[in-house]
Amino acid sequence: MNIAHLLQRSALVHGDRPAVLVGARPLHDYRQLAARVAALAGHLRLRCGVQPGERVLIYSANCPEYLEALHAIHWAGAVSVPVNYKLHARELAYVLGDSGARVVCVSAELRDAAFAAGADPAALQLLGGPGWSQAARGVPLALQERAPQDLASLFYTSGTTGRPKGVMQTQRNLLAMTMAYFTDVDEVHPDDAMVYAAPMSHGAGLYNYAHMLRGARHVVPESGGFDAAELVQLAAGVGRLSLFAAPTMVHRLVEHIRSTGADASGFKTIVYGGGPMYVDDLRRALDTMGQKFVQIYGQGESPMTITALAREHLMDTRHPRWEQRIASVGVAHACVEVRVADAHDEPVPPGELGEVLVRGDTVMAGYWNNPEATAQTLRGGWLHTGDVGQLDVDGFLTLRDRSKDVIISGGSNIYPREVEEVLLLHPRVSEVAVVGKADAEWGEVVIAFVVADGEPVPDAELDALCLEHIARFKRPKQYRWVPALPKNSYGKVLKTELRARL
Ligand code: AMP
Repeated sequence: MNIAHLLQRSALVHGDRPAVLVGARPLHDYRQLAARVAALAGHLRLRCGVQPGERVLIYSANCPEYLEALHAIHWAGAVSVPVNYKLHARELAYVLGDSGARVVCVSAELRDAAFAAGADPAALQLLGGPGWSQAARGVPLALQERAPQDLASLFYTSGTTGRPKGVMQTQRNLLAMTMAYFTDVDEVHPDDAMVYAAPMSHGAGLYNYAHMLRGARHVVPESGGFDAAELVQLAAGVGRLSLFAAPTMVHRLVEHIRSTGADASGFKTIVYGGGPMYVDDLRRALDTMGQKFVQIYGQGESPMTITALAREHLMDTRHPRWEQRIASVGVAHACVEVRVADAHDEPVPPGELGEVLVRGDTVMAGYWNNPEATAQTLRGGWLHTGDVGQLDVDGFLTLRDRSKDVIISGGSNIYPREVEEVLLLHPRVSEVAVVGKADAEWGEVVIAFVVADGEPVPDAELDALCLEHIARFKRPKQYRWVPALPKNSYGKVLKTELRARL
């Protein structure tokens, strides 16, 4: 079974329904989209010589041709390598070499960057250029059969530490991930619309499959990215709008709606995840927009699918453990098993901290060209996520921090997120990241990088806030006010960079 089958099926069942929109403007219906994809697959095979199993890289910001390229690659039985378009030329060069991509689908504005990274000019296919339009009208290729264990996509981990690794996502992985959207995240109707406000090379793009399956609309914003005012306008114009958003985007969208009093009824579902959502932000989001949120926790190695925190749980304010639940990442997706284990991979009892392990059909086949990392990460048949967390008696998982972010001070573990949650309670703290700094006496001490909302606050005020909520030893030794936190292009704070500044 080839994941491109989802598009083929929707072209039959929902042929006349709008498939792709740019802003509120319909571009192709499902029949047209499938015809273009089959022709582009023909082009990849016949003109570019791409054989099933070969890799094709996509290096582009969000655009309607992104979806065409992705599905044409699948349709031809090849392996998509979606690359973050904000990567540095050096990183792109690494991914090009490591994946051994035969073709690079690139948007016009990134062509020079692709050259700079060493892409072979003959291997470039310009998304949306005249050649592309012509290829989309060419000879269609029959959908290529794939086996469930065949590779569908190579996803390079965002690499907040070290060199990126190519996560091997199989056909089975992507299909299981797609079904998991319906079991644990949301129902989708053909009238729904998925807007790509976050990079399509990452989580947002992975949600295309569930919407492809249901014959829903795919909306590429005119801006190509996240713009709160534009999203609000799109929700009003397009209606039944869903999106995947990093917590920082949710924060910005909610603040925009609060400050403008805009009508948010056109939004259907906002799936947030990819990084910690602070409880204070979440409360404001629920207050402002109500029952529209679902959280997911996943990683490239088990794409979008480890746990989910459902709408019902977020809205169940009368539940005695509601406070803890909204600070959790929810319960295991139906198609995977999740456990928390000690250093010997033995499960720990509820309430105890350990590493989060995952097993099931969404778990990757391994890392491309990297048997050592594969053996280490998949040892004992479980994916070792590198995330530290605890399960409660009802099966809700609360994440602490990535194991490498935990601060050990005077022999005690300090979880930065706990300190960050407290500092964010201050109305004039807009963003914060807590890291450890090497210290001769304590091993490590706690340092907080803080972004002010307006004027910085005296340290004593933040100290008092910490003393009110957490143990004295967790209080930062220093507050460093910065204009912004360094983030990667998916909005994740780069703690490695902050540590390097220390
Ligand atoms: P990536 O593979 O780039 O998607 O990064 C995955 C990592 O992001 C996970 O291992 C977690 O550390 C973090 N992450 C993903 N979802 C969540 C979430 N809902 N809450 C907190 N952290 C998350």
